[in-house]
Amino acid sequence: MTKPRVVIIGGGFAGLTAARGLRKADVEVTLIDRTNHHLFQPLLYQVATAVLAPSDITSPIRWLLRKNTNTTVLLAEVDAIDPEKQVVHADKGTLTLPYDYLVIASGARHAYFGHDEWEPMAPGLKSLEDALKVRHRFLIAFEEAEKAAPEERDSWLRFVIVGGGPTGVELAGILPDIAHHSMLDDFRNFDPRDTKILLLEGGPRLLTAFEPDLAARALKDLQGLGVDVHLNAIVTRVEKDAVYVGDQRIPTRTVLWAAGNQASPLARTLDAPLDRAGRVLVAPDLSVPGHPHIFVTGDLAAINQENGELVPGVAPAANQMGKLAAKNIKRMLAELPTLKFEYHDKGNLATIGRYRAIAEIGPLKLRGQIAWWFWLFIHLMYLATFRNRVSVLIEWAYSYLTYQRGSRLITEREGDGVSSAGENKMGSIG
Ligand SMILES: Cc1cc2nc3c(=O)[nH]c(=O)nc-3n(C[C@H](O)[C@H](O)[C@H](O)COP(=O)(O)OP(=O)(O)OC[C@H]3O[C@@H](n4cnc5c(N)ncnc54)[C@H](O)[C@@H]3O)c2cc1C
Repeated sequence: MTKPRVVIIGGGFAGLTAARGLRKADVEVTLIDRTNHHLFQPLLYQVATAVLAPSDITSPIRWLLRKNTNTTVLLAEVDAIDPEKQVVHADKGTLTLPYDYLVIASGARHAYFGHDEWEPMAPGLKSLEDALKVRHRFLIAFEEAEKAAPEERDSWLRFVIVGGGPTGVELAGILPDIAHHSMLDDFRNFDPRDTKILLLEGGPRLLTAFEPDLAARALKDLQGLGVDVHLNAIVTRVEKDAVYVGDQRIPTRTVLWAAGNQASPLARTLDAPLDRAGRVLVAPDLSVPGHPHIFVTGDLAAINQENGELVPGVAPAANQMGKLAAKNIKRMLAELPTLKFEYHDKGNLATIGRYRAIAEIGPLKLRGQIAWWFWLFIHLMYLATFRNRVSVLIEWAYSYLTYQRGSRLITEREGDGVSSAGENKMGSIG
């Protein structure tokens, strides 16, 4: 008798937790990811701004699952799922994997609201490659400003961030620190303190996931750092050297996109109901309606909490879903009824530059330095490995004590920036 086959798509928070939940189960697990590393997305903006190196926030999936003797890890990109034949197609149809149970945990990408042509000019922040592109953009902007004619320099020194959620706020909060401290003595033809940072938010306030008073505090903190925040500012066009809000043209050579999410396109290959962001409207036990052997987890799943609000796309929710998917598979194998998903809200956190943050944990609201220390502790705790924790702690200590950035290398001027990673640290991935 062959063992039941479980295929897991994605080695992010949800997929990894599902695989770990099946470690002792009498099944054959195959985890497929298009990258060989698990990525700690909450600290991506620190790679994008050269505080951390790629290897600080990544760990090889194969290594993380080395103790799962029932699990095979495959580096492959899934193209489609055929729920009728119970197979997954990967690597442009060259790989076909049959399954008895399927866990889909392929996450989300950023959305450009129907304007995908903006992506090359305004990179978003979801993957390691994205973070390296952003880092390339912002390091190159300072280099170009050093060479530019005075009338062109302003546009190189104006950084525009689109989207006032946690990612946009965290990026906007860290850039003044770099301009006003890290780069201060490095250039001869301009003063890095002339750097302008604009944060454009389409809605009436920042950080809608937070209580209004905490979001107002974040706004005040950002303004205190010199960030020019524009609310109700809907971007209508992005060009190589400008961004438009309505008819207003804002000259800039660096636009960073932190607005909107679109679920992984894999969901569309399932015969399943989707919401507007392309997430699968899952049944209470996280299965796909009509396909009880397929579970959808993490950012790809749309499910409401008890209070009627959507479970947010955050790491703790993904972990909790991955855990339940594994548990439900084990219950199905034991011919027990599956369990419903119950979200346990662990709270919200966002940093605003050096030493400032806001935090909401149940009824507890923190702001300022105490929230920042809390943020620091939580993020260190949740990094995937002890090695990540030590290296991040060292980089942070260096950066916070000296105001210097550990990862400021540009190794290729042309190209998409991925090659600008440069660091030999990249070698430690995988
Ligand atoms: C910049 C940023 C900051 C964030 N900050 C926070 C924070 O502070 N706190 C918090 O709780 N959450 C934060 N989040 C959200 C959190 O990271 C996500 O909710 C979480 O990563 C979702 O987990 P997941 O497993 O669903 O997807 P992911 O972690 O995105 O993993 C998806 C995996 O699937 C793989 N994959 C995708 N498509 C395919 C395919 N076709 N074939 C094979 N593999 C595929 C990907 O390579 C990836 O490894 C942040 C997210 C971002 C982008």
